[in-house]
Amino acid sequence: MAKILTITNQKGGVGKTTTAVNLAASLAATRKRVLMIDLDPQGNATMGSGADKHQLETSVYELLTDQASAEEAILSDLSVKYDLIGANGDLTAAEVELLQLPRREFRLKMALLPVMDRYDFILIDNPPSLNLLTVNALSASHGVIIPMQCEYYALEGISALVGTIDKINQRLNPKLKIEGILRTMFDPRMSLTKDVSDHLVEYFGDKVYRTVIPRNVRLAEAPSHGMPALQYDKNSRGALAYLALAGELIRRTEQELASEDLATEQE
Ligand code: ADP
Ligand code: MG
Repeated sequence: MAKILTITNQKGGVGKTTTAVNLAASLAATRKRVLMIDLDPQGNATMGSGADKHQLETSVYELLTDQASAEEAILSDLSVKYDLIGANGDLTAAEVELLQLPRREFRLKMALLPVMDRYDFILIDNPPSLNLLTVNALSASHGVIIPMQCEYYALEGISALVGTIDKINQRLNPKLKIEGILRTMFDPRMSLTKDVSDHLVEYFGDKVYRTVIPRNVRLAEAPSHGMPALQYDKNSRGALAYLALAGELIRRTEQELASEDLATEQE
């Protein structure tokens, strides 16, 4: 059964899409079966995975509005090693259309059920907002990865996000938890970076990933070539950092599974 992880932060430009694309590529490089879902009408994760958002026959919009099944929406013949359900501007209409549909918070969850066995990880990239699309992502997920840039305003709005996650956990999805906090575009030469980073660790404890993602120009260049950094320059610091993150994520997941098994044995 796939572990579904939502990558979210209502701030734009913090590295959500970069994390979705490069983590998907890194998990796939360790032979995990990965599906990435682009849930942002801007379609950056779609383009960054080498699919043309203007040419999508079926996208996540059709998936959410019952016009296509997951099977039909999945692109599996891209140059990247993971599968993709793409997005484009059509998705803007979905938010309004979803309001009219039954079980509107659970459309994505229901649509993914038939393909859950096919993947080890499903990653969802989100728009920089907390709207019904994000609620769909959170209702479908086991965990949330929050990328954060260690700058002055980083913590602003984070309590709203944590509050939303709590609410979804209580009302719609009891499985949901914060999977990890990821420090992105990290620049250790700035003393402010260290201050904010220390605050994050104080607030979130060991939820903060040990792996930090450095500011690295290859990560910024790769999307214009329609590929993850691992494909564009596999020895770049950016590509290596996301590989390390994938390793940390897999280890954490295995530890969780082991302690769950132990708990069931002791029952
Ligand atoms: P979001 O999806 O949260 O809006 P993006 O992943 O699109 O953020 O990142 C915003 C911009 O910063 C993009 O131009 C991206 O290429 C660049 N970027 C993201 N992470 C890094 C990094 N670690 N080093 C350098 N540039 C980065
Ligand atoms: Mg983005």
